Amino acid sequence: MDLVLGPLRISRLEPETRALGPGQRAVVWFQGCTLSCGGCIAASMNAAPPMLRTTPRALADWILSTGIDGFTLSGGDPFDQPLDALAELLEIVRSESPLGAMVYTGRTLSQLQCLDDPNALRCLRAIDILVDGPYIEELNDGLGWRGSSNQVVHVIGPRSAGAEAGAVTTRKLELRVAPNGLVSFTGLPARKRGCDMGSRLEFAAGNRSASESQNEGEMH
Ligand code: SF4
Repeated sequence: MDLVLGPLRISRLEPETRALGPGQRAVVWFQGCTLSCGGCIAASMNAAPPMLRTTPRALADWILSTGIDGFTLSGGDPFDQPLDALAELLEIVRSESPLGAMVYTGRTLSQLQCLDDPNALRCLRAIDILVDGPYIEELNDGLGWRGSSNQVVHVIGPRSAGAEAGAVTTRKLELRVAPNGLVSFTGLPARKRGCDMGSRLEFAAGNRSASESQNEGEMH
């Protein structure tokens, strides 16, 4: 992605995964979340500075360049980004491609619908699958594309083929080792596994330090 400074704060980009939604998807992890769910696996990522600050146009161009079936926005909470910029991103990708948008948020759909901000409704109109609600560790049942069973996989747009499996599908956790040895995973960890994932990654990486491993799944 071209380095263009903008309002969207990004922690990580993954050009292809099958672990967070139907088909092969690009994933954007936004930096930052004002909620504080117990057991949040993204806490350290949310507290760290963003890897990148960019514009909706530049981020959309990266998504459109990845050649995938759809894209997933996660975090952090995408709804803690400037909502005009988030809406612009979703609208650009929607208008310039057939890609469907899947978005994770710790807010509920009804909370988002009640926000006194027209940009929130612009976002919702451009989302196809919304996984909503806070992560509750005790309700992590290991199923689906949501972190805990209180969360709902809502189909709210037409580009949502395959979404019916969202609450019951067996989870996938993808591990990657980069050429420089950096280990990362994508997906939804099992209950009480998020906190020890760093040490397990350290083992997988041949005892590289945990700080060298990325521990950035999704707990929504
Ligand atoms: S689980 Fe998601 S919504 Fe909850 S604190 Fe972590 S990033 Fe925020």
